[in-house]
Amino acid sequence: MSKPITKAQIQSLLKQLLSSKEELSELLELSGQSADVVELDQSRVGRLSRMDAMQQQQMASAGQRRQQLQFKLIMKALQKIADEEYGYCNECGEGISFARLQIRPECELCVACQNIQEMV
Ligand SMILES: [Zn+2]
Repeated sequence: MSKPITKAQIQSLLKQLLSSKEELSELLELSGQSADVVELDQSRVGRLSRMDAMQQQQMASAGQRRQQLQFKLIMKALQKIADEEYGYCNECGEGISFARLQIRPECELCVACQNIQEMV
């Protein structure tokens, strides 16, 4: 069983989570605005550029969905830190390594469980 992460390590991950939360909420605000602009343009542009605009909007909303999902994960991670349940895998309950959390502080699964999920 891997060693649970220390309080100091949680503190540094907390800082990381809070700054990505800030970044994401700004991005989500911005992309929400740009999606509106595309919609307005559609009524007065030609067919080709309308398709362009729709494609752009689809790409923008896919990116937005990813950002929204990540935002939710970050909020969950912050809640877990508050509840002192942070750093454990959702599937198997093992401690997630600090190295992994440093790369993705919002992750909810250990490497082994993540691999299984990605294979399905
Ligand atoms: Zn696991």
